[in-house]
Formats: sequence, structure tokens, C-alpha cells
Amino acid sequence: MMNELIYFDNAATTPCNSQVVALMTDILANTYGNPSGHYSLGYEAKEVLDTARGRMAKALNAETNEIYFTSCGSEADNWAVKGAAMAGARKGKKHLVTTAFEHHAILNSMKVLEKQGFEVTYILPTEEGFIRPEDVAAAIRPDTALVTVMMANNEIGTIQPIHEIAAICKEKGVWMHTDAVQAVGAIPVDVKQLGVDLLSLSGHKFNGPKGVGALYCRRGVVLPNLIDGGGQENRHRAGTENLAGVAGMALALELAVASLPEKMAHQQELRDYTIRRILDAIPETRLNGSWENRLPGNANISFLGLEGETILLDLDMHNICASTGSACNSDSLDTSHVLMSLGLPEEVGHCSMRFSFGKQNTMEQAAHLCDVLEEIIPMRRAMSCMWLQKENKVRDFGGEGEA
Ligand code: PLP
Repeated sequence: MMNELIYFDNAATTPCNSQVVALMTDILANTYGNPSGHYSLGYEAKEVLDTARGRMAKALNAETNEIYFTSCGSEADNWAVKGAAMAGARKGKKHLVTTAFEHHAILNSMKVLEKQGFEVTYILPTEEGFIRPEDVAAAIRPDTALVTVMMANNEIGTIQPIHEIAAICKEKGVWMHTDAVQAVGAIPVDVKQLGVDLLSLSGHKFNGPKGVGALYCRRGVVLPNLIDGGGQENRHRAGTENLAGVAGMALALELAVASLPEKMAHQQELRDYTIRRILDAIPETRLNGSWENRLPGNANISFLGLEGETILLDLDMHNICASTGSACNSDSLDTSHVLMSLGLPEEVGHCSMRFSFGKQNTMEQAAHLCDVLEEIIPMRRAMSCMWLQKENKVRDFGGEGEA
């Protein structure tokens, strides 16, 4: 029996690296000047800001002036989508292409734009969780202002063929954005190699701080501002900079990129062990999304006949943190839009659990998770009407004539 807290929700957020905490603490305490200030404390702060931007650019193979700091991944997504839509509308282009399984930062931005008269095409993924480049090509029209396809899905971890999709967009002269919030720091991301015009990321997904993100904006791509005010971020994103946040995020990314091969191998070992053991030991379980081309730290498994929420609560009693879907969805009992977009029946979507592994997790923890699941799943199923009906172990009380 393990008493320690076991954290398997690293796709929701990650613990902050201790070197990052030390750097941020130092900046908060000592480099409190405003980077716009014309005195030594301001110059020092400006130096911290420039260093952070340089580090981010290097890690992504971008130019320094192509990195814009934002308050989070959601802001970067909103800016890319709404900014590209506005820029397109000025040229009479009011059509946007996205996918049905994007994060809500994209989907809800699209909803707002639809209300403003934009038309949006939502491409469905395959059952395995991939967007087909040919479907993107077919969706693009002469009036398409933007194509946005996420790099890695936050619920099922499938990695999309962004390079191929970006090449299609380039050929057709349409801007391409990718929400790489789940990908940056988890798999190699090189903006030049991908060929995208816009890319969003978020610091807290790769052992950096929360409340800070960035938008890569290829040179030549000019978006209208989302946040107006002062002249920060080269006059494109107002607001006094979150200096400790951007410096912490940049260091976290540098550290993540430096240790990427080992981190990926470690996560993949935990992921594969967990998936294999659950599928082998617990009947009526299924892996959602392809095993191939999947984020090394993501396992999304459905336990038929149970509500994901029930499993989540049981795991919490065992000091294990996991998720029933995306973190942003966890307050709602709606079936995951991601699993629905794969064409899975609702009952498969309702009983899904996401286990996302981080570099701090151990094989012993993964084995403990499987031990606990092997104990709680049969026990809960024995009490679940949904399961017993499925197994024909209870009479169906429904039907005509019921009062
Ligand atoms: N996009 C994806 C794919 C995500 O997984 C998330 C967060 O879960 C976001 C965007 C939003 O990022 P943030 O929490 O920094 O706003």
C-alpha cells in the first residue's frame, strides 16, 4: 500500500521544476523593475525579458522577434484564431477550417466568430484519432482565412500530421495555426521544420509556471491585436510583462528540450506498461486513440459499464490523481467531445479515464495504479446497474406499461 500522493494528471498541468522556482523566486524578489523603465532596474528587467525570448526562440527554432508572450495557452489560441479571422475578413475571407476535437480555447473562439458571420468547417478525425491531410485540402476554399489543427490532442494524445497539413496550406496560400500546448516540451517541436505560420504553447504543461504562454508568429504574418494598451511585445500585445513567468517558462522549456529523449523514453515505458496491464488484466477495457503516434505520456482508457467519475473518486481515495477527460471539461458530466468526434458510442465516452505520466512518475507508481484499478473496477462493476444489465445479470425494469 502506497500512501504518497501519486499524480497522473500531467496533461492538465505539471509540477514546476525546482530550478524554475528558484529563478522565478529570485526575479520576483530582486528584478522587480518594469522592463519599460529607463533606469538600471528597468534595463535589468528588460535583459531578463530578452533572455527569455531568446531562449524560447532557440528551443523552437524560431527567430527572437517571432515570439510573443501571452497570459496562457488559451490567450495564444484566441489571438491566433480571432486575429487571423479579422485579418481575413478585411480581404473578404470569412471561412475558417478546424477540427471537431480541438481544445475549447479554439472551439469556443470559433463559436464566437460564427455569431459574427464567419463560416467554420469542422473536420472529423478518424476513429484512431487522426486528421487526414486530404480532408483539410478538401475543406480549404478561396475564402478560407485560417486552418487550425492541434498538434497533439489533450485527451487522447494522438499526434497530428502538422507538417503535411502546413504544406497544403502553404500551397493554397492559407495561414496555418497549430495549438501545440500539449506538444511543446513533450515531443520535438521545430516551427521551421513544421512550416506553420502560428503556434500556441503554455508554460505549465512542461514543468514551467501557470498563467504564461506564447504565440509563435512567423515573420510576415501580422495579426491585429487582441489586447490593446501599451506598447509591449513590439506593440502587439499590451500589458506589463509577467517577468518571472516568462523567464520561468523559458528556462522550463530549455530544460525540457535538453532532456527530451530521456523524458520521452521514460514516459513511454510507463504508458505502455499501464496500457498493456490494464487491457490484459481488466476485461471490457479499450484504449481510446491510436497507440502509435501518441504522446509518450498519454493513456486514455474506457472501462465499460462504469462512469469515469466513479473511478476518479475511488482513485482519489487511494491518493491517485487522474482525469476523466480534459481538465477544462472535468466540471461537466457531458460526454467528451473528443471521444464523440471519434464516432464512439456514448457509453464508451462516459467511462473513459485519462492517465498522463510525467518525468517525476515511477514504474512503482504505475504498478500501484494498476493494482488499485484491478481491485476497484470489478468491485464497482458488481454494484453497477449499467454493467449488470450489460452482463444480463439483472432484469431490465424499463419498458412499456411502467407507471
Ligand atoms: N490547448 C490545449 C490543447 C490544452 O490542453 C490546453 C490546456 O489544457 C490549452 C489549450 C489551454 O492552455 P492554458 O491552460 O495555458 O490556457
